Amino acid sequence: MSRATNFFAGPSVLPVEVFQQIAEEMVDYKGTGLSLMETSHRSKTYDEVHNGAVEMMKEIFSIPDNYKVLFLGGGATLQFSMIPLNFLGEGSTADYTLTGTWSKKAAADAAKVGKVNVVFDGKEKNYTTLADASTLKPGEGSKYFHMTSNETIGGIQWKNWPDTGNVPLICDMSSDILSRPVPVEKFGMIYAGAQKNLGPSGATIVIIRDDLVEKCPDSLTAYLNYKTHADSNSLYNTPPVFPIYAINLVLKRMKENGGLEGMVAHNKKKAELLYSAIDNSNGYYRSPVDEAYRSNMNVVFRLPNEDLEKKFIEEATAERMYGLKGHRSVGGCRASIYNSMTIEGVEKLTSFMKDFASKN
Ligand SMILES: *Cc1c(COP(=O)(O)O)cnc(C)c1O
Repeated sequence: MSRATNFFAGPSVLPVEVFQQIAEEMVDYKGTGLSLMETSHRSKTYDEVHNGAVEMMKEIFSIPDNYKVLFLGGGATLQFSMIPLNFLGEGSTADYTLTGTWSKKAAADAAKVGKVNVVFDGKEKNYTTLADASTLKPGEGSKYFHMTSNETIGGIQWKNWPDTGNVPLICDMSSDILSRPVPVEKFGMIYAGAQKNLGPSGATIVIIRDDLVEKCPDSLTAYLNYKTHADSNSLYNTPPVFPIYAINLVLKRMKENGGLEGMVAHNKKKAELLYSAIDNSNGYYRSPVDEAYRSNMNVVFRLPNEDLEKKFIEEATAERMYGLKGHRSVGGCRASIYNSMTIEGVEKLTSFMKDFASKN
């Protein structure tokens, strides 16, 4: 077997060992004579997988006891609706930071439910920079404060968190969850689509503080209400069984490899390798992003012109390095180096970059 190197932004690279274990267990799950995929989500067999994923998430991410870990469907995108439906309401205001594609989508959905107060807008600098988050303050009477920890398309990442006092801080961590330590107790809610750092697509992780669960209005339909899922341990309806199973395996592996601390060191090394390849190229490669807010997960870069970018992507693809094309809305190149990307994968890219620059 020869695996290609996967720089796709999502769905994205997962550990090959996890795929091998899934393949081994797929037809006959641990001697039960059934695949887990055809086993009831109310069975003891599935219970272990489900609760195992919840417990592992709590342990690795140091989630305090007054939070629930939920696994929902609908992607991070459904959260853009559920958050305002549960916490905003008509006539009320919530704070939003506008830092790129994803935060703007979240704010656009909130604006259909209530009022949006923009506390930070990166538009003037074309979403290439952020701010010292400790300088951000929630608006008067705000219901919550929303931010996107890592803008997957623009390649920028907040480096600290605002102090929002009694206003719940809600954060979309889809593309950097479990890549760095986070003071979970500062947040009312954290959510993330699984398919960047945690597993395959189909499950969304919601980490929600108990007092927020109690605020969810009874007038909402069942699935849209967080309380429905919190009260039933995400088993109100059939949960996304396959992604939860895979997440459990990814988390187990992460725990074996030093947990969050191990991941931080691993990610730091990869980001340093790649950014120094850009910075030490005498301007051949260029990062369009403010150095202070560079993402450790999605590294965006430009070449001297678009023709060379096209050639770069073609030749990298021929070398079986996939997913290096920047998002169609911004162009250029992007290497997503999520948790499961290996150091060797990044080294393969940086040596290709050096080679390409000297030949072109
Ligand atoms: C990918 C992504 C989303 C959308 O996730 P879906 O699961 O596809 O709905 C939202 N926010 C961020 C930051 C993302 O990277």
